[in-house]
Amino acid sequence: MRKKIVAGNWKMNKTYPEAIPLLYGIKDNLFRSQNVAGVLKIIAPPYPYLHDFYESTKGIKNFYVAAQNCSSEESGAFTGEVSAAMIKSVGAQYVILGHSERRQYFNESEQDIMKKVDLALKHDLIPIVCTGENSQSRKENRQFEIVSKQLSESLFHLSPEQFAKIIIAYEPIWAIGTGLTATTAQVQEMHHSIRSFIETKYGSDIAGGVSILYGGSCNVSNSAELFSCSDVDGGLIGGASLKAEDFSNIIRSFPS
Ligand code: PEP
Repeated sequence: MRKKIVAGNWKMNKTYPEAIPLLYGIKDNLFRSQNVAGVLKIIAPPYPYLHDFYESTKGIKNFYVAAQNCSSEESGAFTGEVSAAMIKSVGAQYVILGHSERRQYFNESEQDIMKKVDLALKHDLIPIVCTGENSQSRKENRQFEIVSKQLSESLFHLSPEQFAKIIIAYEPIWAIGTGLTATTAQVQEMHHSIRSFIETKYGSDIAGGVSILYGGSCNVSNSAELFSCSDVDGGLIGGASLKAEDFSNIIRSFPS
């Protein structure tokens, strides 16, 4: 059985006095619900809040904290960077890597993402690796080629044991923060293609066990339909993770 996962990417939103009530709102909301204990819940706040978030969620079953990025370097003279070891040392267990905003605004390459994946695993952080095509590539029907290239160049150097730890997110860039959600058919088709591509490299056991999350304007009105697709194991949620009730309802929307 693959893990069901909902991860909230808060991006560069919420000051500390705003972030704490939002976290408590999510916690309160989930406490009132019995049937989500099995869902892995991950929140990725800005770096400065990681330790507090870890402290205030550490007793809650299946509730974890993630960083939104980490450095591609181990340590040293890299002003402004935050290392995988530092993230681990404040209690985070996951790290989002290769988000399209990092690729687009900070010129992250597959080579950078590969280095970050290696450092994350070295420091016992689980990478959530984002893939996805832009609207032009989708129009040209090159989405499968683009996503396969991202996967092979950033992840296929890993040993089977290492790869088995990775979580993949499929986030078509044209759907992120735009209100345009991919259709369930498009999402299922891509998730199935990702799983098949992983199978060619790592075999059916590993491909069948990897959780693949969908991200891109996933919200309370479409999450149930998206999560009912056989190859969709949950979501990476941006905007809707900033509202306690919406995020909690998305967590509740797996088919029973
Ligand atoms: C994201 O940034 O990972 C994301 C999925 O954002 P949104 O849900 O706002 O489209």
